[in-house]
Amino acid sequence: MDKRFWSSRIQDLEPYIPGEQPKDRVFIKLNTNENPYPPSPKVLEAIRSAADETLRLYPDPEASQLRQTIAEYHGLTPEQVFCGNGSDEVLGLCFYAFFSPGRRVIFPDITYSFYPVYAHLFQLDFEEIPLNEDFSFPVEKFLRGSGGAVVCNPNAPTGRTLPLEEICRILEADPNRVVMVDEAYADFGARSAVELLNRYPNLVTVHTLSKSRSLAGMRVGYALGSPEVMAAVRCVKNSFNSYPLDRLALAAGEAAIRDVEYFEESRRKVMATRERTTARLRELGFFVHDSNANFIFITHPAVGGKELQQGLRDRGVLVRWFDKPRIRDYLRVSIGTDQEMEAMCRACQDILKG
Ligand code: PMP
Repeated sequence: MDKRFWSSRIQDLEPYIPGEQPKDRVFIKLNTNENPYPPSPKVLEAIRSAADETLRLYPDPEASQLRQTIAEYHGLTPEQVFCGNGSDEVLGLCFYAFFSPGRRVIFPDITYSFYPVYAHLFQLDFEEIPLNEDFSFPVEKFLRGSGGAVVCNPNAPTGRTLPLEEICRILEADPNRVVMVDEAYADFGARSAVELLNRYPNLVTVHTLSKSRSLAGMRVGYALGSPEVMAAVRCVKNSFNSYPLDRLALAAGEAAIRDVEYFEESRRKVMATRERTTARLRELGFFVHDSNANFIFITHPAVGGKELQQGLRDRGVLVRWFDKPRIRDYLRVSIGTDQEMEAMCRACQDILKG
């Protein structure tokens, strides 16, 4: 491609490739960690009532009400909350706000693949530190000096969780660097680092309403941290897009956070299905990592990852395969409804029969 007119900053950039959103046929869609259950009826109601003549007006650039609601939910103050257009955007603004060129930022090799994209885009020096042989987190290597660290917890795509004590060690190793903990999947059984926020001013946690609150289509994410740290992200936001959340997303986000009962019920169902699916796949000879997320990471000694992905696709089931050296024989399978997971297991059985 002729990149004559492209900025030199992006000529070698390899953007993040999102999971497939098929348009040609109906699949059982277990490839992008969406929630199989609809958003709370109260969310749909809130969107409908926000869809009125006020859409001609800009939304609240500070997302004040939503921040207040999130702050109350977590027992924090609104100054500790920053909201954005999905946690991908929040992560991007945080990378820009907290990490500096020339000061190496670290994150694991085998984690959410957007981190290296942002590091590259913002011309940061970065090091991807390999996970241990068993895909556990190499904590000791995160205690060394760096200009910042990112920890996805539970990690994607492995689903493995780092105990909070280990996160404390990483935070304490250097109180002058920001440690970002991406908790996109924490609602599905991990202990959240939010409880550490008032102890560690260098901690930032990042959250999304896309998974446990079934709102991937609305794009609502947020970060939590000390007021000083959050002021930095606000500074970046106001230099980029002062209105990241539209009126409908603000209304939906607020209603979603408020409906705690629906949220509890939905995540309970997903976790129960995850445990049932894990047991079933293990019976079929799969190795399945214990997961605290709304997906499982699986491999089978008798069939390669890509082959299994294709086999499932041919049988109408989409799952995620990553073209990365250590995990080529693995698949990441999002947790759907019980019926969807049963169909996925049956398709696996069929493939294994050869
Ligand atoms: N963090 C992780 C670890 C993710 O897997 C995802 C979803 N792809 C995100 C953040 C972004 O989620 P969203 O932008 O939908 O909030």
